[in-house]
Amino acid sequence: MISFWEKLSFVKADFIVVGGGITGLSAAISLRERHPGKEIILLERGIFPSGASTKNAGFACFGSLTEILADLKRIEANELLTLIESRRKGLSKLKKRLGKSEIDFQQLGGYELISNKEIKALDYMESINKILFPLFGEPVFKLKNKYIGKFGFNSAYVKSLVFNPFEGQLDTGKLMKALIRKAESEKIAIYTGAEVSYIEQGGKGVEIRVKNNFTENLIFKSKKALICTNAFTKKLFPKVDLKPGRGQVLVTEPIKDLPFKGTFHFDEGFYYFRNFKNRIIFGGGRNLDFKAETTSKIATTQKIQEDLAAKLKEIILPAKPFRIAHSWAGIMAFGKNKKPIVKSVSPDIALAVRLGGMGVAIGTNIGEEGAALISKDH
Ligand SMILES: Cc1cc2nc3c(=O)[nH]c(=O)nc-3n(C[C@H](O)[C@H](O)[C@H](O)COP(=O)(O)OP(=O)(O)OC[C@H]3O[C@@H](n4cnc5c(N)ncnc54)[C@H](O)[C@@H]3O)c2cc1C
Repeated sequence: MISFWEKLSFVKADFIVVGGGITGLSAAISLRERHPGKEIILLERGIFPSGASTKNAGFACFGSLTEILADLKRIEANELLTLIESRRKGLSKLKKRLGKSEIDFQQLGGYELISNKEIKALDYMESINKILFPLFGEPVFKLKNKYIGKFGFNSAYVKSLVFNPFEGQLDTGKLMKALIRKAESEKIAIYTGAEVSYIEQGGKGVEIRVKNNFTENLIFKSKKALICTNAFTKKLFPKVDLKPGRGQVLVTEPIKDLPFKGTFHFDEGFYYFRNFKNRIIFGGGRNLDFKAETTSKIATTQKIQEDLAAKLKEIILPAKPFRIAHSWAGIMAFGKNKKPIVKSVSPDIALAVRLGGMGVAIGTNIGEEGAALISKDH
């Protein structure tokens, strides 16, 4: 049962955002920019964000050459440009909002390791550069094959190296802490340990039921609600068109004289690695077992962790000893293409969900679009 005071001050708001990942926190901050005097609450089920945003590898990326070629089989070139523009806009807003140094943003560039399997992609590099030219004003992808040896990669696997100077990297933990601090400084009430179990459109706004051990029948009320629960959205809205997809990662102990810096991709973006100071963060391998990895269970598996360790030894660091310090997993959301879903599901409830592997860049923008959508008639 709740008290008179709790009823008066804790459970009512003009806007409620559900989900405290990068999209939900960004949406709440965007709502504050639009509505300086309104009450805004954010409900997050975890003690801290517990989906993808605190689990990712910290790439600030827009898509590698082979990823873009694969995307063009599913969407038109103009739709792809809009998507890449949204990633760029999101990232630039994020940097402006939080400050580059607060999140350790470094634009060290990105590289794609091309094996014999993808070598044909190089024939399309010029045409992809032409498509992207209006956004970047210069060719995005160029060959840097002389770095294959310098970086110490296995040249029996890596036949070519495609460089993209626009890619960056950041410190995921610092980013999420800075976003939370920013939201709190903007007087957004963040309640953690607040798992929403039910959301209902009422005659006069929205009712949101929260599971917890201390208060029976805890119901929040708001005029509008934005759902940013990404891969976990089906529990609340079973008809939404998305599937969860697990991502697994490992980080090495510091490596003496690590020969490269930057972000790296291979196998159509299914594998990715970067330096974090003098460690390597390496993730991917979902394509090894799509069935098992279509899950919202946050756990690592032996199959994928062994594959990552083997590829690290054979392809990335063939000549250097390393030790794995830690492994973890997080959950993304996927659909028939890479476009996120921002749409109303009732007069006062909207979704901003289905962020896959590039949410660091696009999350801020999707939060902003969600905030705009529920602000329309408010
Ligand atoms: C291993 C891994 C590596 C990745 N690497 C990169 C990368 O390098 N670069 C990049 O751009 N992207 C990367 N991504 C993707 C990126 O992390 C996501 O696209 C992004 O974090 C999605 O943000 P989100 O806020 O939409 O979702 P989430 O971060 O999943 O946030 C959703 C939140 O909703 C909460 N929630 C769920 N259900 C409820 C409920 N019922 N009630 C209350 N709260 C609820 C969850 O706890 C969670 O905190 C990676 C993802 C993973 C898993």
